[in-house]
Amino acid sequence: MRSGRISLGCNFACIHCQNWEISQQFVDGEIYREREIAALIDDAKRRGCRNQNWVGGDPIPHIPFWLRVLLLETEGMPVFFNTNGYYSAEASSLLRGVVDIYKIDFKYGSDRCAEKISDVSNYWTVLTRNLRGAKQHGELLIRVLVLPGHIDCCLRRILSFISEELGPETRVNLMDQYSPHWKASELPELRRRLNSAEWGKALRLASEAGMRNVIL
Ligand code: SF4
Repeated sequence: MRSGRISLGCNFACIHCQNWEISQQFVDGEIYREREIAALIDDAKRRGCRNQNWVGGDPIPHIPFWLRVLLLETEGMPVFFNTNGYYSAEASSLLRGVVDIYKIDFKYGSDRCAEKISDVSNYWTVLTRNLRGAKQHGELLIRVLVLPGHIDCCLRRILSFISEELGPETRVNLMDQYSPHWKASELPELRRRLNSAEWGKALRLASEAGMRNVIL
């Protein structure tokens, strides 16, 4: 381990990111080599830890690193991939058979909203492809943070897709705790928290979509 300037990184630039200090810039930190991380994970497994959670920012920019770590592990700790889900088809094939649990944030029902808030393009196509792949190749948990002002453009389509394409039994964590961070004030609808009418509508849409495995 050594000290240095590091970026934990994320491939998104959500203007409301509450972790922007580690997702959007370089910070001072401790740099671990693959074998050091592998030893820590093996030790955690021996002490009863049940999974290794690859997180960030987002783990996507560091997939090659984590795969090298995994090759050095000896204890067979299950992998929990904690991601925004916006990765390439090549990354998807690298993760197949490696990841046990995919926890994917499904953020937008509209490419326009994804571009406006997270500065990414072709969002819907990439996310829905990777959600289908995750369901096929591992255990899937979807997390949906309901954004104020994005019920009809985003949440409605997200819930319909999950129910119709992935199945109403899909486990979905619906969250009402949005709060404005970082540059959220640049978008009028993101300057405030979700109101009770919006949350009520979100719950109603989940019910109308037939979702049977919603965690609040
Ligand atoms: S995907 Fe998550 S960590 Fe990355 S910028 Fe968006 S909110 Fe931040």
